[in-house]
Order: sequence, then structure tokens, then C-alpha cells
Amino acid sequence: MQKGKIDVKTENIFPIIKKFLYSEHEIFLRELISNAVDATQKLKTLAALGKYSGDIDDITIEVTLDTKKKTISVKDKGIGMTQAEVDKYINQIAFSSAEEFIKKFKTKSESEMNAIIGHFGLGFYSSFMVSEKVEIITKTYQKKGETSAVHWECDGSPDYTMDESDKKDRGTEVILHIADDSKDYLEEHTLLGILKKYCKFLPVPIQFGTEKTWEKIEGEKDKDGNDKQIEVEKPRIINNTNPIWKKKPVDLKDEDYKSFYHELYPYTFEEPLFWIHLNVDYPFNLTGILYFPKVKRNLEVQKDKIQLYCNQVFVTDSVEGIVPDFLTLLHGVIDSPDIPLNVSRSYLQSDPNVKKISNHITKKVADKLESLFKDARPDFEAKWDDIKVFIEYGIISQPEFYDRAKKFCLLKNVDNKYFTFEEYEKLVKPAQKDKEGQLIYLYATNQHEQYSFIESVKARGYDVLMMDGILEAHFINTLEQKLEKTRFTRVDSDTVDKLIKKDDALPSKLNDDQQKSIREMMEKQIDSKKFTIAFESLSQSELPLFITQNEFMRRMKDMSALGGGGGYGFMGEMPENYNLIVNSNNPVVGRLLLEPDGEKQASTIKQLFDLALLAQNMLKGKDLAAFIKRSAEQMT
Ligand code: ADP
Repeated sequence: MQKGKIDVKTENIFPIIKKFLYSEHEIFLRELISNAVDATQKLKTLAALGKYSGDIDDITIEVTLDTKKKTISVKDKGIGMTQAEVDKYINQIAFSSAEEFIKKFKTKSESEMNAIIGHFGLGFYSSFMVSEKVEIITKTYQKKGETSAVHWECDGSPDYTMDESDKKDRGTEVILHIADDSKDYLEEHTLLGILKKYCKFLPVPIQFGTEKTWEKIEGEKDKDGNDKQIEVEKPRIINNTNPIWKKKPVDLKDEDYKSFYHELYPYTFEEPLFWIHLNVDYPFNLTGILYFPKVKRNLEVQKDKIQLYCNQVFVTDSVEGIVPDFLTLLHGVIDSPDIPLNVSRSYLQSDPNVKKISNHITKKVADKLESLFKDARPDFEAKWDDIKVFIEYGIISQPEFYDRAKKFCLLKNVDNKYFTFEEYEKLVKPAQKDKEGQLIYLYATNQHEQYSFIESVKARGYDVLMMDGILEAHFINTLEQKLEKTRFTRVDSDTVDKLIKKDDALPSKLNDDQQKSIREMMEKQIDSKKFTIAFESLSQSELPLFITQNEFMRRMKDMSALGGGGGYGFMGEMPENYNLIVNSNNPVVGRLLLEPDGEKQASTIKQLFDLALLAQNMLKGKDLAAFIKRSAEQMT
């Protein structure tokens, strides 16, 4: 028997491993299984090269839980290790990465540490996070030289023992004696959950326990003539060793992509809209599939569904910094051995490789969208309402993406027609300009609530865009910066005549004195803090009174409600303010001056005002009930 101290310069590394890897203890299993997979892959490579001639038909890795002995073991049929190798790889080398970790930790604050944790692969030694004792029993694949099996054991102090073992078959078994404070891992469903999370797509089959399934008995029928079935217990293989992102796109059908989507997200019933198969091998290696899902109203639940893999080992589903923010709304997998995984997030974001990968993904997404737009515009338009949030988000957050997206980003009008930026500019250019010559893009955010405004604008031959997405307020702001001499304004933000330049402005039928006395009548009835009264000479067929809301103020409010309004948080507390437009050319307004009965005058004003509120969907509750009652009375 050989006894020794693990070659480590830091006195006792285990308490530190334990303390600082606390939040990510479960990765011990990922690390051990990754080692087992590596050892198996190495053997397969040797066999392929003709350097190993033994049997490699069964290479399944077994994970076993023994609740009585309180052990978890991971057993592979890979290359195994000789005693010299255990000495070299386990007793000496393994610690170098652990030591590096410690060095980093010494200069970092606690919060920085948390960022490093979990992305720092401690490899084999992470097993000490959960174990009071670890054993390795291993036998090399080699048939010549020193081939006897080895039994290594370490109890969490740097002291280990190494001995011969009677193991007969090739490969390595690592046995963890689970510590009392980690008893949770001795639950079958906990282990299964961890295995499913990290190992779902590993390239070597992994067995954990057994499962029961029903199987046909050949040639036997029951009394109804159906095949007889019996329940059989089979090894439970927890992974799909050949996930489709590793296959060639030409070999795959739409169905394959869809069923893989459901394999990734078993609780999602919706179909993805479309997908992009990533397949790069130069200048970095990257494979994966990105899906465009149907977006829900709540963007947060949508985020962080992309799973990041490193050679089919699950690493994280927080891809922030690896893909541009707007693409975190996509679903799918990214697999790359070139993303440095065992580092902190801030390091990741500044890594040039990661930057390249991020740019590449953005480019691929833009390419795909552009080709969909060019090759199948009707289909693209049909999907537009579902995909626009990605594109709008991209345009808001990434200038480079805007440069690509301006070719295929669509604007939809209230008649459900779609236009590119260029097409829309052409459409409205002749008629929709303000006094300064700026193009005016009229829009609505709610077809029902703004109905009367939309109709009156359309009646004059102007076009109205439908801007009812989640990100619209931000999107509009961005577009105003990007598009030349263009201003967006909601249909109810002002009277159209003020918004759009017209040469034939109507004269007012009321003189200043008359306007003044009508204003005085109104001020008695209407909350003048909330409503600013203004006279305008519109056509006499226009409503007598209506309410508008300043575009700028409203948009700031919308943006702060959405969050991330760029420091406009205070807008939420601003008092509401509207304009009450009095159409001095509507005969009903003029007639107010002729009404001798003060009470009748007041009730007409109330009625007109309530109608204006109604048109803006602002008449509610008690006021609405009073309006209905008053209307009924007036009719009798
Ligand atoms: P890493 O896997 O990052 O190299 P580890 O500490 O996990 O670091 O493992 C150190 C080395 O021990 C491995 O590189 C490998 O040579 C050897 N090793 C670990 N587990 C196994 C195993 N199951 N079979 C064969 N060799 C192994």
C-alpha cells in the first residue's frame, strides 16, 4: 500500500472547496460523468485507430445509488488508469486547477466569487463538496506493462492511500461516500433531476437504475386478438446520445426539428415558428439550433431558455453575454468547445472568442430573417406579429442589427397591410407632413379604444400604423432617431389638422369674446387641472368636444410603465394631463351661447364632455352611469 499526501501547496483545500462552491454543489456529478465520458471517448478513438482491439460494444456508463451505504458511484468502461497515472493525474495534476481557483478567490470579493463559482470546473475534486470519502477503483485498458487494478482512497484531508485492487474489467469506478450535510443527493429523484439537467445529450449512454415498460410478446394474442404485452424492467438510459444539432441539416426534416424542440421543452405545447441550424467550424467551433418561439406578453418568462453546452455537456441556461440580449428570447441549444466555460461571467463577456460567436449568431439570425422575407414574404408577413418582438428588441438594443433589419423590418397598418420602412415612407410622403416638413407617422396602440380617432384620420385619407406590441414605446423612440425627418404621433395626440399641414385652414365661427365665455362656462364643469381647454376651428362635421393627450408625455409614461425608460421613472407619478379641444365650428358649441337656462347649459356641456370621454374610453363607473341616466332623460 502506498500512502501519501496529495501534492498541494495550499494546506487544506477541502474546506475551501466546500465553502465556496456551495451554490453549485450538484455539478460534482457533471464533472465525474464528463470524466467518464472522456475516458470512454478516448477508448473509442484508440479502437478506431486500431490501437485497442478489445470489445467496445457496451460502453454504457452506470450511475448507482446505494441509500444504505450512502454512496453514489459512477462507473465507466473507458481507458482506466494505471497506478502511475492515478499518481500523475489525481494526486498531482488534478489540484492545479483547484489551486488556480484558490488563487483567484484570494483576490476577489465575495460577489465576484459567486460569479466564478460554478463556472470553475474543479473536475474530479468537486466530488469532495458532497463526500466525506472518495474511492477510485480503476483498471487500465492496456494489456502490457503495469496493468493491475488500483484502489485509491481519500477522506477529504490531503492524505490518500493507494493499493492494488482485484477489479477485473477495464474502466474506472468512482465511489462517493456522501457526507451528512449532503444527504439530499441520496434521493433518487434528486439524482435523476441532476442527470437529466446536465447529461441529457452526452454522447455515451448513461444508465441510472431501471424503468418499467410494456413489451409485446411475439406471436401471442389476447382474447380480443390484440398483441399480448408484458411489463419488463429495463436499464434506464437517461440521455439521447445523438442530438440533432450534431447532425447535418440536409439529413433533417421539419418534424425532426419540431420533435427536438419538444424534447428540450417538454412543458411547451406550442410549435416553434422557425429555426436556425448553426454549424460553424472555422474560425471557431459552434453547433446548435435556435428556435423562434411564439412570444408571450411577458418577456421575462420567455428569457433564458437557450441551453449552452460544451461538447454535449450542459453548462448553463443563462446565456447572457454570449448571445446578444435580444436573442436571449430565442430558444434552443448552443454547443461550443470554444466558449471558455470555467471562467466568470465578466471574463466571458470580454473574451474575444465569445464576442465573435455573439456576432456570428446575430449575423446568422439576420441572414435567416432576410431570406425568409425575400423568399417567402407572405409567410413572413403571416409570422410577423409573432416575430416582431425579436426584431424590435434587436433594433432597440443593437445598432448593427438595425443595419441589417431595416431591410426586412415591417410596419403594419390598421388595415393589416405590411410595409417595409422604405415602402411606408413612399406611401405617406406625399400627404403626411407637418409645418416643418417632417414626415408624420400616425399610429394607434389600440384599435378599439382609439376607434373614433382612427376613423376620422382615415376619412381624410391618411394612413394609420398599428403599434400594439410590448416594446412599442421604445421602438418608436428608436425609429425616430434612425429614420430621417420622421415623427411618430398617436392618432389621439392632437387634432389631425395641427399634426399635418393643410393649406386650407378653416376660419373660426366664434370670435374671441364668444370663445372666452364658452371657456368660462366649461371651466365650471370640468377639472381644469386635468384638462387644458383649447379652441380649434375644425370642420363642422367634427365632434364638438374631444380629448387628446400630448404625444411626448404619454410616451414617457408608457415607457416608464414598461420599465427601462431611461431614467423616466418619475413620469409614473406625474399627474395625468389632457387637452380638451373645443371645435368652434360645430353648431352645438355655438348654440351654448344662445341658451338662456343656466341649468340646461351646464347639462349640455356635461353631456358633450362625457361624449368626449367616451370616445377616449375614459368614461367609467359612476360617471358612466350618470351619463347613461342623463342621456335617457334627455330622450324623454
Ligand atoms: P480534467 O478532467 O479537467 O482533466 P480532473 O481533475 O477531473 O480534471 O481529472 C484529472 C485527470 O484524471 C483527467 O484528465 C484524466 O486523465 C484522469 N481521470 C479522471 N477521471 C477519469 C476516469 N473516469 N477515467 C480515466 N481517467 C480519468
